[in-house]
Amino acid sequence: MDEALTITSTPCAEPARSGLGVDALKRDIVDNLICLQARYPEIATPHDWYMALAYAVRDRMMARRVATTYTYVARNAKVACYLSAEFLIGPQLGNNLINLGIESNAHAALQTLGIDLDTLVAIEEEPGLGNGGLGRLAACYLDSLSTLEIPAIGYGIRYEFGIFDQEIRDGWQVEVTDKWLQKGNPWEILRPDVAFYVNFGGRTEQETDAQGHLRVRWIPAYTVKGVACDTPLPGYRVNTCNTLRLWKSEAVESFDLQDFNAGDYYEAVHEKVQSETLSKVLYPNDEPEAGKRLRLAQQYFFVSCSLQDMLRLLELKGESVDRFAHVFTAQLNDTHPSIAVAELMRLLVDEKLLPWDKAWEITRHTLAYTNHTLLPEALETWGLPLFQSLLPRLLEIIYEINRRFLDEVRLRYPGDDARLARMSLIDESGAKRVRMAHLATVGSHAVNGVAALHTQLLEQTVLRDFADLWPERFHNVTNGVTPRRFMALSNPGLAKLLDETVGDGWATDLGLLRKLDAYADDAAFQDRWRSVKRANKERLAANIRSATGIVVDPAALFDIQVKRIHEYKRQHLNALYIIALYLRLRRDPKLAVPPRCFVFGGKAAPGYAMAKLIIRLINGVAEVVNHDPAVNGQLKVVFFPDFNVKNAQFIYPAANLSEQISTAGKEASGTGNMKFMMNGALTIGTLDGANVEIREEVGDENFFLFGLTADDVERVKREGYRPADYVRANEELQGVFDLISSGHFSRGDREMFRPLVDNLLNHDPFLVLADYAAYVARQQDVSAAWQDSRHWTRMSIVNTAHSGKFSSDRAIREYSEQIWDIKPVRIALEQRV
Ligand SMILES: *Cc1c(COP(=O)(O)O)cnc(C)c1O
Repeated sequence: MDEALTITSTPCAEPARSGLGVDALKRDIVDNLICLQARYPEIATPHDWYMALAYAVRDRMMARRVATTYTYVARNAKVACYLSAEFLIGPQLGNNLINLGIESNAHAALQTLGIDLDTLVAIEEEPGLGNGGLGRLAACYLDSLSTLEIPAIGYGIRYEFGIFDQEIRDGWQVEVTDKWLQKGNPWEILRPDVAFYVNFGGRTEQETDAQGHLRVRWIPAYTVKGVACDTPLPGYRVNTCNTLRLWKSEAVESFDLQDFNAGDYYEAVHEKVQSETLSKVLYPNDEPEAGKRLRLAQQYFFVSCSLQDMLRLLELKGESVDRFAHVFTAQLNDTHPSIAVAELMRLLVDEKLLPWDKAWEITRHTLAYTNHTLLPEALETWGLPLFQSLLPRLLEIIYEINRRFLDEVRLRYPGDDARLARMSLIDESGAKRVRMAHLATVGSHAVNGVAALHTQLLEQTVLRDFADLWPERFHNVTNGVTPRRFMALSNPGLAKLLDETVGDGWATDLGLLRKLDAYADDAAFQDRWRSVKRANKERLAANIRSATGIVVDPAALFDIQVKRIHEYKRQHLNALYIIALYLRLRRDPKLAVPPRCFVFGGKAAPGYAMAKLIIRLINGVAEVVNHDPAVNGQLKVVFFPDFNVKNAQFIYPAANLSEQISTAGKEASGTGNMKFMMNGALTIGTLDGANVEIREEVGDENFFLFGLTADDVERVKREGYRPADYVRANEELQGVFDLISSGHFSRGDREMFRPLVDNLLNHDPFLVLADYAAYVARQQDVSAAWQDSRHWTRMSIVNTAHSGKFSSDRAIREYSEQIWDIKPVRIALEQRV
């Protein structure tokens, strides 16, 4: 870290572009303001200063970036490629300052210029290139890869429009276009020289080459160009600076001359527009209707560019093609990049002219697949006609993979036709479809789930036949999150207290937090712990006030549920409980309810009507509860709009209680649960995803467990679940439904929530009502526990103390050792220059 560049250093002053001291930073910021923003200090806007600072920080990453690339090539290091359709990286400035260790110097440099660092950090628009947990996981993993000095490239798509911005109007979600690139992106380095062509449509032809081998030629209908856009990602206090490489689509020619000369200008421009459309917009997940042609095109586009780039780098390293799997390992983040199985085969067989068996060995050895969901509606499949028309050559390859694979299954399970049909890459039960999870599993040497329970269910349900056939391929890697962004950056008060208590090594060795156990009952330490939490709650309260106008009391219990809005995550279970509390207070205004502030946040997929209705219900409840005199301010309900990484950073640290109440067996892992825990929140939750392991780490006495287990859920469903029975048997719950149906939370409109009420009473696919009573009872325990402040604080400290397992560093070490067979490479700065 303190190895500064030596090339241009003089005895008196650090070089402006690389020096880490206050003076060098200051000079670079002012230079950038003038040279890049064309402004001088007296007239510069805060955004100008933000850009000037961002470029100064970027300057400092460049020498690291260059040294990193140089070292990887010189040492012929194996590189981990993380293929993901989403990277929800969040704002970069604050994190880069922390990772480079120059936050306080940047603060001081700006102070001498009369500028406040926090104001500049708050200006940055985040790249919303992901929907939620899956994209954020990819971003946490990249932070850990750099920090652990593991050679890595993140490969994905540079969406021009990321996830929509959410506004709330009249209680409803309104989607507003994300304009993250409008004011420019100082972190991105465009690489026009790193570009590849990707084919679509058309047909294939067989031909015999000069050596007499049968070859297939793909004659595409059109070709799109992918150009690399790089974002440097510095590790924490190390010289490693890996790259996130996102592909932007462009037309191959600005227009087709033939069409143009023929006078068809519009036809010529059409193709250009179509090509550029490819990387235009991120698809929201959880959309009920899938099968979008453009989405498959996006997946193939970024996967093909990425694999072609890897082949280019292989050549650059002077390695032959058959060494591919020794030089690269590629992790598929869910099935979105699973077309990589067929595309790598195509590149090796059609383009590099390798024999099929050799190509298959390389492909399987290179690829590994992470499964993220068991929900049947979220398992990707593509209709054959669509696949055939968009990617004809890849479908042929998939058929050949399938033919050989089914032969293997037949040998192993003779006569078992039912098994063959279940395992085939093609679902032939209705209209034929390609099963992407099967393709990913067959084409990978390792398959993993993202929490112990999830991996177990994966092996018992969706991939059961595959786990039977290849038990050695299955692994578990429980998700993790980066403590740099979600503790050091998001919770500076806690970070300081931790530095002073356990030493400053915790951010890269989260197990050190165990030392906090010794202070859990220390009254003086507890006071400091509470005052950190109190300050975080005041910060959130201020943000709530400016975003919604709602005034909340920082002394109240902050009970928070932030995540995508989805029926399986059961925000409506939480809402039903709030309504029950409200009814109790209305009946008896003198009732002593410990003051609670319920905070919700999260986006619903634009096409997911039920999720949007849940948002409307929460806002309806907020509107009533926050103003009813009977409540007397004891309950506050807030829907915090536009939950994203930027907002997450001040929401998680302010929580006393973390709501992790998904139907058991439905949440693969969750990562929000981990961010809350690290920041000292207690969890109320089901035995689902990583909650199981959180409870194991922290102990049952420090966790509010409730509800059916995954096995119970299956049993209840099998035995014929009748949700309305639970309402009839519970007078209070009946009252809750009556109040919703009366229009009380919909300004008198009795119809508004009917779809939600009918769905719960008649179907309730996620067993909200079956778990309701247990949830309410456990919430009573939470209220009782909150009254004993010393005990609550103890539990809060113990939660942070036992959160070490959930660092993404632990997860990345597991991938590196168990799946990737890859080792860290130390980067020395002076080596390059
Ligand atoms: C962590 C995170 C998520 C995932 O939350 P879960 O509770 O695990 O679903 C989603 N969105 C953002 C912005 C996050 O930071």
